[in-house]
Amino acid sequence: MRKKIVAGNWKMNLERNESISLVNSIINNLPSNVDVDIILSPTFIDLYKISKLCRNIDNLYVSAQDCSTEDRGAFTSQISARMIAAVNANYVILGHSETREAYNYTNKDIYNKIVCCLKNNLQIIFCCGEDLNKRKEKNHLKWIASQVSESLFNLTAEELSNVVIAYEPIWAIGTGITASPQEAQEIHAFIRGLIRDKYNSKLANDISIIYGGSCNPSNSHIIFNQSDVDGGLIGGASLDSTDFINIIQSF
Ligand code: PEP
Repeated sequence: MRKKIVAGNWKMNLERNESISLVNSIINNLPSNVDVDIILSPTFIDLYKISKLCRNIDNLYVSAQDCSTEDRGAFTSQISARMIAAVNANYVILGHSETREAYNYTNKDIYNKIVCCLKNNLQIIFCCGEDLNKRKEKNHLKWIASQVSESLFNLTAEELSNVVIAYEPIWAIGTGITASPQEAQEIHAFIRGLIRDKYNSKLANDISIIYGGSCNPSNSHIIFNQSDVDGGLIGGASLDSTDFINIIQSF
């Protein structure tokens, strides 16, 4: 049985007091009746504090929003997977379209970051997805296949089992436009098929593939209800504890 996951990506939206009050509100309202792994992704500067608050709470995990391709050294401003592991975070989001665009990360860069995370026993939320032009030109499947194969397919099956894949169409992120449940299902099934072809059916069936892009409490139920959608990566709606809890409860 693969894991159901709801991950909140707080991006650069919350200052420390706001992060603490959001995490406390989530902890106080955590539903006990759902079997979902919940992942919170504060900014680097709050990772230590939020990890401490979430420690020892069932099904609650903490993620960084990126990491360096290097483990240590003269890389001013960078944060390594080793440092993230040292503050007891559990995951790192890699390949988010906002970081790919801001820093020109290649698929190979994302692979190198994944290797650093694995070396430090961190799990990965690997983001992929097409922009509007690629979808209009019907090049989106090819694009997603190259993102997945160039960043993931040098991993062993055991290594890949530490990766959660997030399908995030760029045209849906922060726009209020969501992929239809059918569009999400089509891409998730496509990605699962790529993993089945390259590795095996067991890994393809066990890997969680979550959807991201303007997911909110009104659309999460129908999206999560698709057979290949195992949850969501939530941006805007993760900043409100009531919305976020409602999304968790929508399975
Ligand atoms: C995201 O940035 O990962 C995301 C899904 O954002 P939003 O939910 O705001 O579209």
